Amino acid sequence: MPPEPSGILDIDLGAVAANWRALADRHAGAVAGVVKADAYGLGAARVVPALVEAGCRHFFVAHLSEALAIRHLAPWADIAVFNGPHRAEIGLYVEHGVIPVLNSLGEMEAWAAAAGAANRTLPALLHVDTGMARLGLDRRELAILAADRSRLDGIALRYVMTHLVSAEIADAADNASQASRFADARAVLPPAPGSLANSSGIFLGADFASDLARPGAALYGINPTPGRPNPMRPVVGLRGRVLQIRDIGAGETVGYNGIWRANRPSRIATVGVGYADGWLRSHSNHGTAFFDGGPVPLVGRVSMDLATYDVTDQPGVEPGSWLELIGPNASLERVADAARTNGYEILTSLGSRYERAYRS
Ligand SMILES: *Cc1c(COP(=O)(O)O)cnc(C)c1O
Repeated sequence: MPPEPSGILDIDLGAVAANWRALADRHAGAVAGVVKADAYGLGAARVVPALVEAGCRHFFVAHLSEALAIRHLAPWADIAVFNGPHRAEIGLYVEHGVIPVLNSLGEMEAWAAAAGAANRTLPALLHVDTGMARLGLDRRELAILAADRSRLDGIALRYVMTHLVSAEIADAADNASQASRFADARAVLPPAPGSLANSSGIFLGADFASDLARPGAALYGINPTPGRPNPMRPVVGLRGRVLQIRDIGAGETVGYNGIWRANRPSRIATVGVGYADGWLRSHSNHGTAFFDGGPVPLVGRVSMDLATYDVTDQPGVEPGSWLELIGPNASLERVADAARTNGYEILTSLGSRYERAYRS
């Protein structure tokens, strides 16, 4: 008998594919799949083939190492790297046919030099900063490039892209001003397709459509329209196993530093999932799991390998029972709110000790 897991992560690859198709139907231009951070923690090795099967032909990751890890899974697809090429890596980009996102004039110069050395044009995306102040050409660099387009010699400009600051807030003023700054930037550059929206941007309407949308979150069931019903299919379920049940008296405390105190005789279920599994410590005294559809509050501090739940009102819970930590009742949004973070951080924190059950 193999060891038994304390947590089971259920990942619905069919829902990932359905979410991609729904976004492809909604967006006027092409739609990529963002699979950085191991496909937001869900496993790029399983997610990429599901997206290929759904029809996805463009992938984005953050690091070259992530691109090389999936190259063989999508040999005909475009795989692009957001974080830009380091000089020493450029040979690997060329060798493996990975496309860099060029985020500065310096990166552009190195890429153009590689094209010159290879005696052919090399593909790239060009990132223009329209407000994020993080990556991409700033105003000054854009003006230099506009005045000297020969800097693009040897570079096959696949897309000019930018990234929205507040796409998930539909009425944020940033959205419209970034769209207009993006249009201005494209007007001073040689004609090339554009790439604008992330998941939430796809839901901002026709002004935010482009030749290539770049959704990640929505593929994995994160609500791209916070505050409104989630239009995406849920992808992730997480169950935690009850290791032990104990009865405590009124006035007794649970866990490190005794931050929760029972105000009645209580039954406490200890689950074998903790912050080392990505069950964030910020859930301490917050959050709700479910048993048979009934709520059980998380009480006390989440520790490294364990979390404790008040199951006084769910007499059916016993050692070996499974609590729903993420699922139809404990939605990803609800879990993220309880931990005072977002679904992105919940998913990308998911640990490596869970048994992963993939469904297609
Ligand atoms: C991560 C990322 C995306 C995907 O964003 P989601 O909100 O997950 O859809 C798109 N573009 C860039 C530049 C990114 O870094």
